[in-house]
Formats: sequence, C-alpha cells, structure tokens
Amino acid sequence: MPSQSTGDMSPAEFRDAAARLTEWAAHYLDTVEQRPVHHAVVPGLVRSALPAQLPEEGASFDVILGDVDRVLMQGVTHWNHPGFMAYFPSSGSGPGVLGEFMTAVLNQQAMLWSTSPAASELEDVVLDWLRQLLSLPSQFEGACHEGGSASNLHAVAAAVAAAVPEFRARGLAGRPGLARPCVYASAHAHASIAKAAVFLGLGYEALRTVPVDDRFRLRPADLTAQIAADRRAGWLPVAVVATVGTTSTGSVDPVAAIADVCATERLWLHVDASYGGPAALVPRCAPMFEGIARADSVVINPHKWLFTPLDLSVFYCRRFEVLRELLHVAPEYLAGGDPPGVRNVKDTGIALGRRFRALKLWMVLRYFGTAGLRARIAAHLDLATTFAAWVDADRRFERMAPVSLSVVCFRVASHDSPPDADALDRLNAELLRRVNARGEVFLSSTRLRGRFTLRLAIGHVRTSSGHVARAWDSIRWTVDELFRGHTQGRQA
Ligand code: PLP
Repeated sequence: MPSQSTGDMSPAEFRDAAARLTEWAAHYLDTVEQRPVHHAVVPGLVRSALPAQLPEEGASFDVILGDVDRVLMQGVTHWNHPGFMAYFPSSGSGPGVLGEFMTAVLNQQAMLWSTSPAASELEDVVLDWLRQLLSLPSQFEGACHEGGSASNLHAVAAAVAAAVPEFRARGLAGRPGLARPCVYASAHAHASIAKAAVFLGLGYEALRTVPVDDRFRLRPADLTAQIAADRRAGWLPVAVVATVGTTSTGSVDPVAAIADVCATERLWLHVDASYGGPAALVPRCAPMFEGIARADSVVINPHKWLFTPLDLSVFYCRRFEVLRELLHVAPEYLAGGDPPGVRNVKDTGIALGRRFRALKLWMVLRYFGTAGLRARIAAHLDLATTFAAWVDADRRFERMAPVSLSVVCFRVASHDSPPDADALDRLNAELLRRVNARGEVFLSSTRLRGRFTLRLAIGHVRTSSGHVARAWDSIRWTVDELFRGHTQGRQA
C-alpha cells in the first residue's frame, strides 16, 4: 500500500518498483514476438474493465502493474514487435527506452537555457550531429517537436511569415490588398500539410495538389504550370513541399528539380523527410537527397526509422530567424532568466514547456554510432528489395509501386482472381484482414490508382530477414486459403 503521508513514493519503494518494472520491461521485449502483433479487443473493452471513478484509496505499484497485465496488455498493439510492418514502424530500442526512463527521472523543462542548460546544449549537439548525418549545411538550425505534423506546421508557418509582410503583427484576415497565400505539395504528400494550411488560417483550398508521375513523384513541370496559373488568378504562392519517402509508397520527389522551381519562383522549399531521412546515411541513397541542402526547411522523425521511441521529430530551418521572429514572446514571468547570448529554445516552436527529448536521441545515436545506424538502415532497404523480388516472382501477385526505400506496395493480381475490380479490392482487403488476424505480422493498406493495396513497411530495429520471410509465408498461405475458398465457392 502507498504511504499515508503526504510525500512521494519512498526511495525504498521506488527502488523496488523500478527493479520490478525493469524486469517486466526486459521480459516484455524478450517475449513480445510470442504475442500476436495486433490486439484483438473490441471497442470499450479496456475502458469497461477499469473503474469509472478514481478509487478513494491509492494502490501499490504491484497492484497497478497487475492492472497493466490484466487489463491494458490485451489492448496493446505491439509496435515493438519485429513483425510490425504497418504504417511506419517505430522502435522502442533498448537505448531509446532507457533514455525515456531517464528523461522522466530528470524531468527537465527546457523552455529557457537556464531552466536546463544540459537539455538546451545537448539538443544543440545532437541536432547538429543529425544535421551532419543528413548532409545539411551548417546554417541549418534544428528544433525538437512531438511529431512530423508539428514540424510541418512550423515549416509552413515560417514560409508564410517569410512571404507575407507583417504576418506576425497583422495576420492574414481583413487585409484587402493581400493576395491569399497558397502551398504546393504532391498528391502523395502527408495529410499534415493540409492540416498546417487549416491551422494557419490559409484554408484547406490553399493547398495545391500537384500530380505525380508513374513512380508517385511530384511532377516539376506541373508544379511550374500550377504556380503560373495561381499567380494569374491572384494567389500568392509561398511554399513547395517535397517529400523524401511518401507515406503510401515511400516514393521520393525530385528534390533538386523542385529546388530549381523554388529558386526561379522565389518560394520556400520544405522537404518532408519524416520517414525517409535516415536513408541519407546509406551511400547508395545519396541521389535521393540531391538538392536537399538547398531547402529552406527539412523534417526528419527519429521516432519513425531512427530507432527512437515516440515522440520525437526534428525540424531544421536554414533561416531560423524567420521562425524566431514569428514566435518570439517575452512575458514578464520569463524575463531575466537567461544570461545574454544563449540559445533560448522557447522561441523555436509553439510549445513553451518542453521535455528533454534530445536525451533519448543522444542515447540512440551514441549507442549505435553512425556505422551501426547505417548498417541497420541498409539492411532494411535490402529486406524490402528481397520482399519485392518474392512478390515479383509469384504470378498471383502484382507490385503496385516501385520500391524506393523500405515500403513495398503489392496485392493479389487480377489474372488469377475475380475479374471485377471491386471484387478484387474486396479479396485483397480480406487477405489483409486474415494476414493480420494470424498475428505474426501486421501490415496496413493504401489505395493506389484507386485500387486497394497492401503495404509492408520495414523499419523496426529488431526486424530481421526471418521476420520478413515469415510475413511472406503468412501472406502466401492466406492467399492459398482464399483461393481454395473461391474455387470451392464457384464449384458449389
Ligand atoms: N510526414 C510524413 C511523410 C509521414 O509519413 C508522417 C506520418 O506518417 C508525417 C509527416 C507525420 O508525422 P507524425 O505522425 O509524427 O505527426
């Protein structure tokens, strides 16, 4: 039972509980593979197993841990399972988990330099290391956010601030002489760009969707034509978003050609490398990053493919003064806290209070080192290529997109299946449902050229060739089972 005094858990109790939690965590990570990747609960099950009101009496850590096992674990989707190949995997790697633990223990609030010199300065150092891994020039300054959506919001905000006179002071509304700002991104850019347009008051219709080529890459010629049409119609083009690793297929926009358009048109270039960024470590991926050094801003999410637990996205900006001027606030209650000349992170983003996110990234980077990270990313790229080759060699399947990074898009092909396109979509949706229900692997889906498509994304630090082979076996067995069902259905 917790102590009835008014203080915190006693040191002895903490030591004991932390030891228990360490054992629990080590056992979980060691055995997670034996669990189905995906939960099997129905909505409301977890909630209904917990009291609707906080009990009057506190509970011991043992009791709480018991609730975790009894109630919560059934509703956990195991993102830390090496068979997790849906969306974009996120790894709670060993050093990353330990970094999170330490972050909570130290509980730093790094709004000012003086509220945590260690957090401010470690962030400087670690983001500079990551900048170098991305081969971005030293003018780029970074800031930590909770996710890629937040980073993209700051990118679009900076672009608007750079293009609209007195944006900070006067905003956008009620300014009759001001043309409406608009932003360009491919049809495969992440939905957070649209959210950014909404949040900044540009409106959803200010997002221009540029068509893609047959490899799902933004078409620079269409971009140029769209910008010209918008200018003629009285809009104010402000920014172009190029994506290195789109969410559906992992496609890579031609950043250098888009940078040329931005230079000619004097537009802000934002590169969303939330997922694809870590591939910059692998020499053979260098062509995908050509032109990135000419960007105005870049985002990479270490919580996707850099083995850092949620949440951490890093936003880099070549002209950080634009954002700093936009976001600078100096309320009296924060005055006088810092000596002159120090970097003050409160003006680098919307959040004032901020966690010591750089600590876990530092631990991950230090633990794996450049070579270790490069080897893991390269291995994931190879696994995706291998999986794609298996798909290509089996005539029951078709590949729906080229493999640019570690995402493979595929589906059961039309030649051995019902001729009607919607029926084929349903068959593929059923394939996904059954594969995920087997529990060895968790895949997700998208729609490409209007058709339902299965999507396998490799990126978890513990995913090995054995897991990818097991995924392929599971998919093939399920297809065998589905086709047996169809043949029997037709014969009946
Ligand atoms: N950008 C891209 C390309 C993404 O794939 C995602 C998420 O999958 C995001 C941005 C948003 O990142 P977050 O989920 O961290 O907000």
